[in-house]
Amino acid sequence: MQKNYLLTPGPTPLPPYVRQALSKEIIHHRTPQFQAILKDVEDNLKYIFQTKNDVFIFASSGTGAMEAAVANTISANDKVIVIEGGKFGQRWTELNKVFGADIELVQVEWGKAVEPEKIKEILDKDKSIKAVFATQCETSTGVVTDIQALAKIIKDTNAILIVDAISSLGAIDLKTDEWSVDMVVSGSQKGLMLPPGLGFISVSAKAYKLIETCKNPRYYFDLRLAKKALDKNDTPFTPAITTIVALNEVLKNMCSETLEVIFARNKKLADAVRQTMIALGLELFTTLQDTSDAVTAVKVPQGVDGVKLVKTMRDECNVAIAGGQAHLKGKIFRIAHMGFIREDDLKVGIKTLEEVLSRMGYKFEKDIGLKTIEKFLN
Ligand SMILES: *Cc1c(COP(=O)(O)O)cnc(C)c1O
Repeated sequence: MQKNYLLTPGPTPLPPYVRQALSKEIIHHRTPQFQAILKDVEDNLKYIFQTKNDVFIFASSGTGAMEAAVANTISANDKVIVIEGGKFGQRWTELNKVFGADIELVQVEWGKAVEPEKIKEILDKDKSIKAVFATQCETSTGVVTDIQALAKIIKDTNAILIVDAISSLGAIDLKTDEWSVDMVVSGSQKGLMLPPGLGFISVSAKAYKLIETCKNPRYYFDLRLAKKALDKNDTPFTPAITTIVALNEVLKNMCSETLEVIFARNKKLADAVRQTMIALGLELFTTLQDTSDAVTAVKVPQGVDGVKLVKTMRDECNVAIAGGQAHLKGKIFRIAHMGFIREDDLKVGIKTLEEVLSRMGYKFEKDIGLKTIEKFLN
């Protein structure tokens, strides 16, 4: 059997202990056994989210948790700011439109990070703004947003800060309580090394006030129901039992490894990948300052078919990287370095990238990619 290398920014590879947990016999959820698991999961999630706030778990993809964030806080005609610098920022805009929000759209060129001052200017002028929506790691471009700076600006205003951390939670630093981030949204299939299917959301006291006054109809994603259940260490509906059992194992591992160690590893891998791209004569899609340690986006060089590059690596070499989305299709490729992606996976990834680029006519010093990544990963 040929090994497949999954270097995409979600889903990410599953560690063997996760696959083992997923293959266990299922248990019933209204039992002391499952309650004990849920309790451990809740405690450890707080560590990963860096918060004392409640963290809710939905049986949904990450977007479900994004919808829960909007559905529970933003009523029709409420004013919001959406920071949109990529495919996932756009999702915040689309969700807010669906719920009838009055959107102040802050469009940022794809590949660039927002200037927090811009948000301050808008908030200074308009005290009625209810929420600011941001994306910590804009997975479509590889840009990281300065959430700490945004939170500092928003903290003492009437608005709450809602952050999409679907690809960044457990991958790069997000100090929810220390920075004052009101709602953090995430999913299971990126930094958390699980299959897709769990959506998460943390809720601050300031955000709870909005939830209470919000006029939207809600049912499955009603955080008031979820809160009632959580207070009894329970869930309102059948939880994704098997995935939560596996989550429990992931969290135990992450807690014992510590966030510091995980973030440092991802940074080391990210630096190595970026230096390797530069050595190959390729151009990064973002500046080194704005680049996320969860995923690196690289411009496809002139003369190379970007779609074919990704397809050939996947179908002929068993190495999956991601292409570009929307107008970036064929123009960039993206390599993840988070979760269970490790040194050896990236070395294989780089070696394969070199082979395929070379086959497609791109010129560079032979083996410079592999040599560079090996140098940086030692
Ligand atoms: C993957 C991703 C999403 C979408 O999550 P789904 O689980 O596919 O719903 C949203 N935002 C960001 C930043 C992502 O990386």
